[in-house]
Amino acid sequence: MLDLLNETFEPTGVGSLFFLLLPLLICCLASTFLRGGSASQAQATTALEVDSWFTPKNINDAFNEVCKEVDRWREQSTASTSDKKVVGRFRVLQSIPPRLHSVFDEREGEITFELTKVEGGGTSVRVKYSPTARQRIYAFRAQSDVKVPSALTLSCPSCGRSVLKDYEACPYCGSKLK
Ligand SMILES: [Zn+2]
Repeated sequence: MLDLLNETFEPTGVGSLFFLLLPLLICCLASTFLRGGSASQAQATTALEVDSWFTPKNINDAFNEVCKEVDRWREQSTASTSDKKVVGRFRVLQSIPPRLHSVFDEREGEITFELTKVEGGGTSVRVKYSPTARQRIYAFRAQSDVKVPSALTLSCPSCGRSVLKDYEACPYCGSKLK
């Protein structure tokens, strides 16, 4: 009789233990997931980097160049992976031609381009991005027709290279400019 009881109780005992632990397990998983999520979000919002450059292109052409580049990133990332989860990369968050183009990527965060017409011709491109997108931004900047208007530069008194007027120190030799 006792044996029979044990036999019938044991499976239900294991079963109820499982159901007792299941919510606990879910709670643990959820909290780790949430903690991880908020940590990466905090990182994305606090550690944004800003880069800006000048292009002799007019603002509409410069804006089109930015849009084309983002399209290229999207095509490349979609073509280079079979992972269906990342098909929707570099989703456009906001686009206000020809001044603002903002995209979001699951892996590289938010990338925002702001364009400003420069008096006397040309466009200033300012981009805000998280460090994970740095290589991408550097590559884009490197291939762009980047120029610094002479009105915005002075030559460093130490090494003679042209640097932007608003620099505190020379990026080449490090000597103080202000
Ligand atoms: Zn210098």
